Amino acid sequence: MPQPPPTDAAQVVLRSPDELRRWSERCRAAGLVVGLVPTMGALHDGHRSLVRRARAECDRVVVSIFVNPTQFAPGEDLGRYPRPLERDLAMLAAERADAAFVPPVEAMYPEGTLTTVRLTGPLVDSLEGAARPGHLDGVATVVTKLLVATRPDRAYFGEKDAQQLAVVRRIAADLDTGVRIVACPLVRDADGLALSSRNAYLTPDERAQALAIPSGLAAAARAWAVGERDAGRLAARVRERLERSPGLVPDYVAVVDADTFHEVADAARGCRIVVAGRMPSVRLIDTICLGVDAVPAVPGDSEAPNEAAERSNQAPGAAEWSRPCSVS
Ligand code: AMP
Repeated sequence: MPQPPPTDAAQVVLRSPDELRRWSERCRAAGLVVGLVPTMGALHDGHRSLVRRARAECDRVVVSIFVNPTQFAPGEDLGRYPRPLERDLAMLAAERADAAFVPPVEAMYPEGTLTTVRLTGPLVDSLEGAARPGHLDGVATVVTKLLVATRPDRAYFGEKDAQQLAVVRRIAADLDTGVRIVACPLVRDADGLALSSRNAYLTPDERAQALAIPSGLAAAARAWAVGERDAGRLAARVRERLERSPGLVPDYVAVVDADTFHEVADAARGCRIVVAGRMPSVRLIDTICLGVDAVPAVPGDSEAPNEAAERSNQAPGAAEWSRPCSVS
């Protein structure tokens, strides 16, 4: 009977899909629940929240750190994407992750690789799929490879990448993986900006301008809280704020069903507003789940006078914003 890797052992570093598969097989053979957290590294508190959730729910946790070339469109930042591996491994050790999977590109895509995973239909043709050709196929391929090698019980993804999450849910279901996909809430920085490894590219001025995104989402969320359900008007609230930042070029603002990513006309509770915009040095995405996520708090953010009037006596109670993580 193979012995499972003990959880208080020094962190295991796995460097090939074969090593990952053997590590995971040993865990599962011992009846342990395995959790997988896929990342591209340059870890921050958003990633940390996924690792903590996995640590709380699983017997063994493996975190992959792999800057996946197939999900970068030509001309994107593959070459300069931050790769602070030592720091990342230290963070994972501090969070008591049992294993880190850090394969070189050749281990994931050896010469002769022919297989890719491709979804079709509106979920992948719109928004991120339209703005970044090939991106979601690259994500689908690498996530499928990780799920096949690890065969985890549970895999953890952030709602920050809401369309990616919807794609991963479809893959897990359509390919009969049996893996439970656990969605973890978006984590923001103190100034309201959604945490992202790419925020490191922002200059101080760009960062100040980028706050128009959480500020716009907050304006829309406040309008929703006082009864606005018209998707067009909610999106307009966001756009108004974006227009105040001349360095920020919006890619899209949309109100969508969280599973299908079909645009909706009426924004019911649980629908998402998704936003993408380009700064000179970086492209940013953000999202809010209406009636579920807390309204982003952007210091110094002032409500327009009509918003403040609408809000009087109608602010939601704290319970209305309570935030369970969702699992499928
Ligand atoms: P990445 O390293 O950017 O590929 O992200 C790895 C995982 O962390 C994905 O499931 C992301 O959605 C998630 N993630 C990234 N940023 C955040 C954030 N600010 N809050 C929550 N999850 C996040």
